[in-house]
Amino acid sequence: MHITSNKVFKEESSSDCVIVSFFEGKKGAEKACSYVPYRPLFSQSLYLNDFHGKKDEILFFYHPKKRVLLLGLGKKEEVDSDTIRKSFAQAVSSLHAKKAKVVELIFPDLILLERGDIARAVAEGVFLSNYAFDDFKSEKTTVLEQLRIYGVTRSELETMKKAKVLAASVNVARDLINNNADMTTPQQMANVAQSLEQISSKISVTVLDKKMMEKEKMGLLLAVGKGASCEPRFVVIQYKGNDKSKDHTVLVGKGITYDTGGLCLKPPTGMDTMKSDMSGAAAVIGTMHALATLGLSVNVTGIFPATENAIGPNSYKTGDVFVSMSGKTVEVVNTDAEGRLILADALHYAVKKLKPSRILDIASLTGAIAIALGEDVTGLFSNNDDLVEQLMIASFVTGEKLWRMPLVKDYKHALKSSIADIKNCGDRKGSSITAALFLEDFVQSVPWAHLDIGGTCFHEKPKGVDPTSATGVGVRLLVELIETIHA
Ligand code: ZN
Repeated sequence: MHITSNKVFKEESSSDCVIVSFFEGKKGAEKACSYVPYRPLFSQSLYLNDFHGKKDEILFFYHPKKRVLLLGLGKKEEVDSDTIRKSFAQAVSSLHAKKAKVVELIFPDLILLERGDIARAVAEGVFLSNYAFDDFKSEKTTVLEQLRIYGVTRSELETMKKAKVLAASVNVARDLINNNADMTTPQQMANVAQSLEQISSKISVTVLDKKMMEKEKMGLLLAVGKGASCEPRFVVIQYKGNDKSKDHTVLVGKGITYDTGGLCLKPPTGMDTMKSDMSGAAAVIGTMHALATLGLSVNVTGIFPATENAIGPNSYKTGDVFVSMSGKTVEVVNTDAEGRLILADALHYAVKKLKPSRILDIASLTGAIAIALGEDVTGLFSNNDDLVEQLMIASFVTGEKLWRMPLVKDYKHALKSSIADIKNCGDRKGSSITAALFLEDFVQSVPWAHLDIGGTCFHEKPKGVDPTSATGVGVRLLVELIETIHA
């Protein structure tokens, strides 16, 4: 979508719609923009209290040149960035239904926030929701193509353009997740990663095939990939934005391109969204896409192991023991707890080969995290309080909610094996925590955080700024974290 700013609004100019925002006042709707066009058109409905300015309230009026969308933001003192994002996302969805392409927006400058924060939140609401995955639909969705914004400064416009770049990076992740699992294969994920080299010369991508993984002794990743008809891949995306700094963040994403559960087969209801089990790897690709596009002065490496967890005559079996890249042996008691296995080899690779200042892994690791925190909140586990603090700041700024979960050391008993160093799964109790404890075993003392996006990566209904299906969660959070660390 193209974005431009204009100083003066001309009522006679034509477009598909202009968005004007209002607060919910004590005696009726109150304007949220200093300048309100077309007032005679709707002043009677404000007077009669047909429109209150309540949160998410939308009312259309019709001028010969365009529609006028009145958007309610709720009570003035309660409006925060999250309200703005969600309200403008709601407005965009209603414009999709009307097949609008060219939209004007009067900047809501009376909101009690810094103008830069308002600009950012408005842009996030508009750009993140202006997405449709309709590759497989005969009738395509009309998305907005042009946004004309009135009343912003040059720097506020730049803020909005940055939000647009980030939304495009989120969409890279969403597209990968939403596509058929037979299309988003491990090799296809590697191809998309390699295409990032075209964006910036600071990006270089290495792809390990099965033979190279055997050489690296990635025994857990290879075990999980055994049943699949397509070969696994291990992808390393290096972004070197600052030669003078030794600081190096490593991101690790889970890339199970389809999870049947393996021989511990999932029931159909548990499997139908399992093309999304590579959402962590997609978030890593999206984040690297953003860093390369924005040209940030940071050093970040994004890695992801990618494989299908398929069922077949060669599938890895429960009761068997596999040797990880670290040398630690793992008894597999549940082939559906495969994410932690491939991540264990990836985390060890990061520790051994990449000299990380910190590691963040992002993974749709457990269903239990969705039971604990629902669809809106990502589970955060970490061995480092500073990193948690930085993540919490990034969470607040982006609106991608996090909740810190405990790494209860005593629960590690659940992972004790009688025939190997560790087993891959305990019982159902506290299973998000035991999964995180399993991962912690492979990061040693490196500052590390694990983001369990099992509940937040894929929604069956649109919600807030997120469309149906893939949310692309993690991309904006990780970019913001990296910027916070280097601010
Ligand atoms: Zn699984």
